[in-house]
Amino acid sequence: MNYIVFDLEWNQSPKGKEGAIDHLPFEIIEIGAIKLDENRNPIGEFQQLVSPSVYSQIHYKISEVTHLDMKTLQREGVPFSEAISSFLAWCGKDFWFVTWGSMDLTELQRNMVYFGEEIPFPMPLLYYDLQKLYSLEYHGGDEKMSLDQAVEEMGIPVDEEKPFHHALDDAFYTGQIMAKMGFDQVKAFISMDYYRLPEREEDQVVLNFPGYTKFVSREFWDKEEVLASRKVNEVMCCCCHRLLRKKIRWFAVNSKLYVCLAVCPEHGLIRSKIRIKKSESGNVFAVRTTKLATEKDALAIAQKRDEVRKRRTERNRIKRRGRKISG
Ligand SMILES: [Zn+2]
Repeated sequence: MNYIVFDLEWNQSPKGKEGAIDHLPFEIIEIGAIKLDENRNPIGEFQQLVSPSVYSQIHYKISEVTHLDMKTLQREGVPFSEAISSFLAWCGKDFWFVTWGSMDLTELQRNMVYFGEEIPFPMPLLYYDLQKLYSLEYHGGDEKMSLDQAVEEMGIPVDEEKPFHHALDDAFYTGQIMAKMGFDQVKAFISMDYYRLPEREEDQVVLNFPGYTKFVSREFWDKEEVLASRKVNEVMCCCCHRLLRKKIRWFAVNSKLYVCLAVCPEHGLIRSKIRIKKSESGNVFAVRTTKLATEKDALAIAQKRDEVRKRRTERNRIKRRGRKISG
């Protein structure tokens, strides 16, 4: 299988968020990509400017970093539909998408839907987020670096003719990093794009990674509904996948994060987290991760739960007092 390392440049409303069009905050103005074979050798490249049809001015920050102006885009660009067709034809049949960061595939699909293009990608759409993998390999997964920082750190020579923030050049540097880094050590940590979500309960996604599992739910109307779903709130061992008894039941760390602690008779303490996320259509879905926990983790979870409880009691006390005064 080939790798399609791609990068997009996009424009946004010159008035910022206020002038943004629903479901198209970012209009793609350039697609750049490098094709690598399975041994990560470059075997082709793709570059296409897109003539904008939604936002008629370039946001000053965008033109500052990309050095693209409206005249150039109108002169050298093609309509988005044309650009995406030729890009997908160039990608070929069997490939993995690779990007720096987690935004490009979502924005690509947003643009495709906005312009009435069908999305031919598999569900779930798995891809390699090289920014994440690079961080896992060299920075313990904690730090997210910019592309130019990583290029410098890897000692990859920067070509004056290939400045950053041009789609093809950024794809080129991302491909260089991919070829040079210890990709095989971290490639198990594949990402899933959340733009399109499972529609039915039976299509909900379970991904197994070294040391943890990830579950991605379908869409629900609201948080209460998603948390009440048994498939969402059950905890399965990340090693043997058996259903577990909870030691500390789900509690809210904040409005978007829930934590619980369970025990596997074979593998011991297991920690699970549910993140509530907003879907493209404005509904919610859950991403649950589960992994082995130490005694120390268990203690921290118990402490957190007590803290949250105390805060809630305090809040209720103040509320009651407020009622008394106003009544
Ligand atoms: Zn187990």
